[in-house]
Amino acid sequence: MQTNFTPEQLADPHVAESEAILRKCVHCGFCTATCPTYVTLGNELDSPRGRIYLIKDMLENGRPADAEVTTHIDRCLSCLACTTTCPSGVDYMHLIDHARAHIENTYKRPLMDRFTRNVLAAVLPYPGRFRLALQLARVGRPFKGPLKRVPAMKAFAAMLDLAPRSVPAPSPFSRPGRHEPQAERRGRVAILTGCAQPVLDPGINEATIRLLTRLGVEVVAPEGEVCCGSLVHHMGREEQALAAARANVDVWTREIDAGGLDAIIITASGCGTTIKDYGHMLRLDPAYAEKAAKVSALAKDITEYLASLDLPSHMPRGITVAYHSACSMQHGQKITMAPKLLLKAAGFTVRDPAEGHLCCGSAGTYNIMQPEISAELKARKVRNIEATKADIIATGNIGCITQIATGTGIPILHTVELLDWAYGGEMPAKLKGLEPAAA
Ligand code: SF4
Ligand code: SF4
Repeated sequence: MQTNFTPEQLADPHVAESEAILRKCVHCGFCTATCPTYVTLGNELDSPRGRIYLIKDMLENGRPADAEVTTHIDRCLSCLACTTTCPSGVDYMHLIDHARAHIENTYKRPLMDRFTRNVLAAVLPYPGRFRLALQLARVGRPFKGPLKRVPAMKAFAAMLDLAPRSVPAPSPFSRPGRHEPQAERRGRVAILTGCAQPVLDPGINEATIRLLTRLGVEVVAPEGEVCCGSLVHHMGREEQALAAARANVDVWTREIDAGGLDAIIITASGCGTTIKDYGHMLRLDPAYAEKAAKVSALAKDITEYLASLDLPSHMPRGITVAYHSACSMQHGQKITMAPKLLLKAAGFTVRDPAEGHLCCGSAGTYNIMQPEISAELKARKVRNIEATKADIIATGNIGCITQIATGTGIPILHTVELLDWAYGGEMPAKLKGLEPAAA
């Protein structure tokens, strides 16, 4: 794509990067076919190519964002299906990151939109506040119906829809600490405790730590870790996201210096995509660029790390698992085979739902901010998953687990919970009702 930025504009490294990305796009439109918002809405401006044009026009003309651009950028899930499809290697992720930051800096959103986004940014990344909010949601649940009828309140109605009926008790595994290997030592890793996940489903990190220590891996949950920053990053709140990235880089660098780390284990693929990008996010900060690149290189999804441990194969156990590949897993991190191969080796029969490349509509805070599109994508995803006739659904991202669980009665678990069970752990509580004949 031809661009017309001035030398002055290109002196800004963010603009220079976006210009290089824009120039790679050849307008072929292959990406439109795999874009969930284009597939759902059928509007070119809600396709990757349409958004690329909008961003180019806005940046090239040095214009502040307006309501139209903001609408179409907000509708993007950041699922990155377009980057998997694009034959020209267009780095859409960093382009839309720039566009979102530009919107945040130049566009004044309507009052209620600003308020909702402020609430989300002030609550979700902090486990204590998030737990309290979920408890309050139980009180607010009876008002869900009336709230849905007020357009400005639809995000709060969506939050009530998603809030679980009960909040699990805090887990000791969610606190900072060191977990000794229970077998011959074969590695030392740090685990990202996370923000929303340990509140919604502490069993995921519990299963991870139990499995790794049983396999001879020391696991540290270092003091001082914070939310990875992806929630605010996707809202365009760059300073808040970079502050989170710096805090985590400091924590893990101390751990690398103290005892060495073979990996930084991440159990939510949405967080993994962002942490693997810390090196890029902090590339312009001389005090952090090198350390952040080192952290990104060590970041591993739990299934990536387990695949390197050469786990033994088990006999088939007569349980069929529909594997839902989170967008941040398959498109963001390009991890496609490891989770399925691990599940198969553990004795599960794995099925791929149709249209596996399409997002389930979770996408960070998307199911709160864009509930209508999100609901359509969820219904489509659930239809495809249920068509596999699987006993269980497995995935690697808490956002997808929360989203899909509200649309189906099939139990949905994190892949690592099934692997923990298969390699010596207890049967996950969610599976206790599974037919004994199948189990
Ligand atoms: S990130 Fe996903 S929703 Fe956004 S343009 Fe790409 S394919 Fe479409
Ligand atoms: S597939 Fe790639 S090159 Fe083609 S229009 Fe989409 S982003 Fe541009």
